[in-house]
Amino acid sequence: MAVVDRKSRIAIVGGGLVGSLAGCFFAKRGHSVSIYEYRADIRVEDYRGQSIDLALSVRGREALRAVGLEEVLIDRHGIAMRGRMIHKKDGTLKEIVYDSVKGNCIYSVSRRYLNVVLLNAAEKYPDVSLHFNKKVVDADLDRGKLKILDTKTETIEEMEADLIIGADGAYSTIRRTMAKKPLFNCSQTYIEHGYVELFVPVGKNNEYAMSGEHLHIWPREEFMMIALPNDDHTFTGNIFAPFATLDKLKTPQQLLNFYEEQFPDLLELIGREKLVDDYFERKPKTLISIKCKPYHYGKTTLIVGDAAHAMVPFYAQGMNAGFEDILLLDDLMERYDSDFSKILPKFTELRCDDAHAICDLAMYNYVEMRDLVTRKSFLLRRHLDTFLHRQIPNTWIPLYSTVHFSRMKFRDCIANREWQDKILRRIAWCTVFLIIALMMAPVIEVYTTKGVLY
Ligand code: FAD
Repeated sequence: MAVVDRKSRIAIVGGGLVGSLAGCFFAKRGHSVSIYEYRADIRVEDYRGQSIDLALSVRGREALRAVGLEEVLIDRHGIAMRGRMIHKKDGTLKEIVYDSVKGNCIYSVSRRYLNVVLLNAAEKYPDVSLHFNKKVVDADLDRGKLKILDTKTETIEEMEADLIIGADGAYSTIRRTMAKKPLFNCSQTYIEHGYVELFVPVGKNNEYAMSGEHLHIWPREEFMMIALPNDDHTFTGNIFAPFATLDKLKTPQQLLNFYEEQFPDLLELIGREKLVDDYFERKPKTLISIKCKPYHYGKTTLIVGDAAHAMVPFYAQGMNAGFEDILLLDDLMERYDSDFSKILPKFTELRCDDAHAICDLAMYNYVEMRDLVTRKSFLLRRHLDTFLHRQIPNTWIPLYSTVHFSRMKFRDCIANREWQDKILRRIAWCTVFLIIALMMAPVIEVYTTKGVLY
């Protein structure tokens, strides 16, 4: 790995998951890093973020491995989930294993734990400084200057950097500043569904109340519940539903009636009182998807993670893709010897289309999770994919595996799936023609033997 001769001053806006990871990578290459985080230090003050659990897969793991953190997170803390466990209304269960050929899993990790590990890791580098309660309120991108509000003293300070990294999440101030510049395109979409976080307590004998090796899903077509295992044997769940549905759950009784009808098994596990307390403690949250281009401005500014490509959470790739951004950035630092005038445009060129692709896939997967997983056609396709993957593992890789268990470019994951669809369609047509031909054979034989065709 090339350590730079000339140190650059890097200002990272946002000390969340992607910002703190980026800090480690820049510091490893010998740059001087300052991270400005709006919140208080989560290592000393309590904070509840947007979701408690996250599913970590290969793209995220590779980034963590590169800074020596994969083992800490996976071996000591992550909980392997080997498949989906589908809960039908009548209480029956159906397991859909993610990868029955190679046994790959995704891992449930706590957002807070992950962020703490990353902040600690960043802080270990001598040239990294962390600044909490610092909200970046404006930026002069041409000069690489930031205006920062100290939320404790309510004073404004300014700082200057060679490179500004906007890792300040879906509602990024840095992206907003870039949007004032020419040729910056950006679109945002709120879906009409929101979510509320809920909790399944520890089961009997201090064990998990359901299998601790699965991501649990209660698909109900228009809406769904999911739950991920925690290492204290509880589960963190989310109900995702149209706001029109959530708005109807105004009183405890309405909520309980809804759960009795839709998720009776889960209601048993959560308990009526706890469900009511947890549900009404907080308001349903919104879900946003953001696509923009370019990701850089000149040689002074780059946005990464949710700031560049926030997505709905249904492919569990927001953080993973954000971590992969940093892997790509690091590859480019190696290739261009930390010359940011070359690195930043290349990053845009290599990443935008891919990130747009995973935003689209994430939208698609909501329909798959809440509806398609229960359909026979979906299950038939899963079986076919698994069969072909087992026969020709390097040629036939199902979509879910390319996204979660490989570093294939997201755009290529979609192209690969389209190619598979085409092959299967052709096989289906050939089969239909063959069946028709076999059915017609006796008729043709009668005609030809009687000489009718001549
Ligand atoms: P954030 O985590 O949002 O961090 C941004 C940081 O910047 C925050 O700490 C914020 O305080 C700070 N900040 C904001 N503005 C400023 C400012 N002006 N000045 C200074 N600091 C600022 N992804 C997965 O890969 N797997 C999953 O299973 C998964 N599940 C999810 C479930 C839900 C319900 C949701 C909503 C998301 C999920 N995601 C998942 C997506 C994942 O949470 C995000 O992609 C990830 O948090 C992005 O990290 P980030 O660092 O880019 O942004």
